[in-house]
Amino acid sequence: MDNQNIINHLGENRADYENSVVPPIYQSSIFCFDSVDDLRQNLKRELEVPFYTRGVNPTVTTLRRKIAALEKTEDALIFGSGSGAIAAAVMNSVQAGDHVVCVQKPYSWTGKLLGNYLSKYKVEVSFIDGKSIDNFENAIQPNTKLFYLETPNSVTFELQDLRAVAELAKKKGIRTICDNSYSSPIYQNPSEYGIDIVCHSASKYIGGHSDVVAGILCASSEVVNSIFANEFMTIGSIISPNDAWLLLRGLRTLPMRIKQSHETTVKVIDWLSSHPKVEKINYPFLESFPQLELAKKQMRGCGGLFSMEINANSIEEIETFCNSLNHFLIACSWGGYESLLFPTCALFDSANYNQTALSWKLIRFYIGFEDHQIIIDDFSQAFNKI
Ligand SMILES: *Cc1c(COP(=O)(O)O)cnc(C)c1O
Repeated sequence: MDNQNIINHLGENRADYENSVVPPIYQSSIFCFDSVDDLRQNLKRELEVPFYTRGVNPTVTTLRRKIAALEKTEDALIFGSGSGAIAAAVMNSVQAGDHVVCVQKPYSWTGKLLGNYLSKYKVEVSFIDGKSIDNFENAIQPNTKLFYLETPNSVTFELQDLRAVAELAKKKGIRTICDNSYSSPIYQNPSEYGIDIVCHSASKYIGGHSDVVAGILCASSEVVNSIFANEFMTIGSIISPNDAWLLLRGLRTLPMRIKQSHETTVKVIDWLSSHPKVEKINYPFLESFPQLELAKKQMRGCGGLFSMEINANSIEEIETFCNSLNHFLIACSWGGYESLLFPTCALFDSANYNQTALSWKLIRFYIGFEDHQIIIDDFSQAFNKI
């Protein structure tokens, strides 16, 4: 089934709700049964039949079916945040005494989970440069149970070769998780290369309107059943039916939104590349990107997120440049309709984010749906201020 057909129709049982074209929000915590035996029989199918909304809710199930199909996996689970989905996937994959190999510079709170929190449960983690498959091979210990990937990452966009890493992992009996938030299911499907669990922050492209925090995990039925019966139901980081409905609404336009962002971003980067005050641009589909070939092999596009270092003499100049941009909001996240910027130099004073190894000159940009010429003119006038 093609993506837009999945998005428009899969998982929608319109006859069940008065042929309403748009599914209703099932704002109910509980679902009742015809008889005790009906209850008894349905409790055996807790991942299929609505019983209690911490487990299964029909609005969420419609979303779940679509997401699994878009990621080409057997099933999926929807969470109240991307971090909730990632934590459930990781915690399901390891136990005390195990070892994890994780790529350098994962998303900040993924780094906290793996680098700080898991040691409490006697799980050891090695952070490696994931650009080379040899680094994965060399980091493997007898107790290695998990490879954690993020390709590309969401600040400097280093890639891992999904096929090579999945092949190595399968040979050694190691599970693989990949954070696919940067590409969305439209531009990359890690399961096609043999990755076991695919995670997303749905707060980014999938929601697409900067109004929902949510997460997604996609995997085989076996893995999803295990995570459902353990981490999902015990930790309870679920999405509300109302937020699931907003994600369904966002999903309808996901392919055209990410394509629009990609096309504008390519034009903007093309202009930036020849600007004398630009030192370096990071974007996987840029001709000068060191892993361009791999990017083109496993990704179908890039979307609107890139970062660059500019020729500034001080943090003050970086701040002046950022503050001078009129069409960018200064905020975290990305994937919505509005252009955003986030400078690394804002991280250094914070307790939770100051571990960064990134240059103070680095600024991350997300290009929304503004016309490319408006963005270019905005960059042009801001460069003139420094
Ligand atoms: C935002 C983000 C997350 C965390 O998702 P939340 O929905 O904010 O919990 C995880 N990974 C990446 C790459 C992200 O950008």
